Amino acid sequence: MATSHLARKQASAHENRAGKELSGAQWARRFPGSRGTSDLSGTFRHAVEDFIAAMAEAGIRVKMDATYRPTKRYDLMHWAWRIVNDKADVSSIPAMGGVDIEWQHPAGADTVRAAEDMVGALSIRRLRTRPALRSQHNLGLAIDMSLSWHGTVSVKDANGKLVTIRTMPRTGMNRQLIEIGATYGVKKYGGGGRDVPHWSNNGR
Ligand SMILES: [Zn+2]
Repeated sequence: MATSHLARKQASAHENRAGKELSGAQWARRFPGSRGTSDLSGTFRHAVEDFIAAMAEAGIRVKMDATYRPTKRYDLMHWAWRIVNDKADVSSIPAMGGVDIEWQHPAGADTVRAAEDMVGALSIRRLRTRPALRSQHNLGLAIDMSLSWHGTVSVKDANGKLVTIRTMPRTGMNRQLIEIGATYGVKKYGGGGRDVPHWSNNGR
C-alpha cells in the first residue's frame, strides 16, 4: 500500500499537466537502436555483410556499434545536445510525433541538468557538432564500426581482387580500405575525419 502510493506520487512528479514526461537519463533506454546487420535494409545489408566477412577473413578486427536507429532517438539526441551546447530555447523545440517528452522542468536549472544527463546516457557527450536530426541510420542504410589490425593485411574487394594494405592508419580511415569498401557499396562518411566509425550506402 505504502509502496504503491509512493510509486504513484513519484510518477506524478515526473509528469506535467499535458501528460508529458520530464526529460532525463531514462529516455536513453527508449527507442533503442540496433547493432546487428540483420536490421539493415535490403541490398545494403548484404553489401555490409560481404565487406565485413572479407575484412574478418583478412584478420581485421570489426566492432559494430550501431546500425539501425529510430528517428525518435535522433530527436532526443539532437535536442538534448543543443540544450546543453547551443543553449537552445526549450520553448522553441518542435513537438515530436510519438515522443511525449517535456524538456522544460519546473525548476529552471533542472532543465539543463536533465539534458546533460541525457547527453551522457545517449553517449553523445564528446560530439563537437550537433547530431543531425535525420541520418542514413534511420533508413537502415548506415553502420558505425571500429576497425583495427596489426601489420599488413590482404583484403578481397567485391571483384575478388586481393588488395594488400601496408599503409596507415590501421583504422576505418585507411584510404585503401575505403576504396575496398566502395567496391562493395559501403561508402565511408565523406565529411572528413569528424565521424570516424560511420559508413553508409552513399557516404552520408
Ligand atoms: Zn553513424
